[in-house]
Amino acid sequence: MRACPNCRSEDCKIKLTEEDFKIVKCSGCGLVYLQNVPEESEIYEDYYEIKFSKDDYSIDSKYDYLAEIYAINQQRLRFLKKFRKEGKLLDVGCGSGLFLKTASEQNYDVYGIDVSNKALSFARDEFKLNVQQKSLGDLIKENRKFDIITLWHVLEHFMNPVSELKKIRVLLNENGVCFIEVPNYNSIKFKLLRKKWKGGNHPLYHRTFFTGKTLRKTIQESGFSATKRIRISYKLPQKSFMFNKAKTMSNLFAMDAFLDYAVWR
Ligand SMILES: [Zn+2]
Repeated sequence: MRACPNCRSEDCKIKLTEEDFKIVKCSGCGLVYLQNVPEESEIYEDYYEIKFSKDDYSIDSKYDYLAEIYAINQQRLRFLKKFRKEGKLLDVGCGSGLFLKTASEQNYDVYGIDVSNKALSFARDEFKLNVQQKSLGDLIKENRKFDIITLWHVLEHFMNPVSELKKIRVLLNENGVCFIEVPNYNSIKFKLLRKKWKGGNHPLYHRTFFTGKTLRKTIQESGFSATKRIRISYKLPQKSFMFNKAKTMSNLFAMDAFLDYAVWR
């Protein structure tokens, strides 16, 4: 049985079960996490399914999901620019490099790491990006420093979010900023769709199911000097005006599908 990664308590209540997976809530600190974790090494080989080429990544892509990711990445950059207009940017869990591709076109000196060789090869071959199969610990050993570090849907994959965030702190320059985005366990989407929302409820890969409150706690325990919830509510091009309006409203109450935080070293 896995203890709570944040407070080490073993006292918990089952929130939901899916196939063999048990998602529990810690009675000590309220963190919702996966109690029985699959063997790490096996699962990421098939994580990325890449069935497109670099030209398919655009706002009018023939693949709706790629057009959506393109739109989201443009909006991410617009927010990021409010904090830092340029600098050395590390994307942790960069996958096939879609975010880095967009960032590289907008004045940032980009670098990415991931666990999947398949995804990294795509990022290198198609987008000519500088990406490597390395861990945060590897980068610390190399004395690397960054002005901006992004974790788009990555923190929920870690076995121990606090210890990984502490490494992020070491990798940030003095005035560096880190952006964290995770699926929101308290979102209307999660409440309505539960098992059907693969982006949020994904126990094979997700080890923690954050709410605004538990994410803030996790960040604070990692020693960052300042934390700010960023109210990014992504406007999705294929959705109606009313849908996007309702989405923005839900974001005000931290009930939108994603949670975003900016944290400073
Ligand atoms: Zn706990």
